[in-house]
Amino acid sequence: MKAALQVDIGKYEIRDVPVPEIKPHQCLIKVGACTVCATDVKYFKGLQKRTWPSPMGHEITGTVEKVGSAVQGFIEKHPGSHLEKCKLDKNSTFKV
Ligand SMILES: [Zn+2]
Repeated sequence: MKAALQVDIGKYEIRDVPVPEIKPHQCLIKVGACTVCATDVKYFKGLQKRTWPSPMGHEITGTVEKVGSAVQGFIEKHPGSHLEKCKLDKNSTFKV
């Protein structure tokens, strides 16, 4: 998969990175869109420390691709753009 990684102050590169393996309490989200915020600008300018290379952006929307064995309440590949009845709870709706 492609990732925008900060590699130095003021420098990002698009690199191929492996798809992460999830732990039992995690979900794997296929990112549909991602924004940057003031924290990312601080990293970009070197005003806040981080280890490089480091991915850019942390406010995302996407689709749940995998659900860890200990996770409850999420369904793999639940359509995020269309609210539908949750298959776990017939009375609720949600999206990621
Ligand atoms: Zn933020």
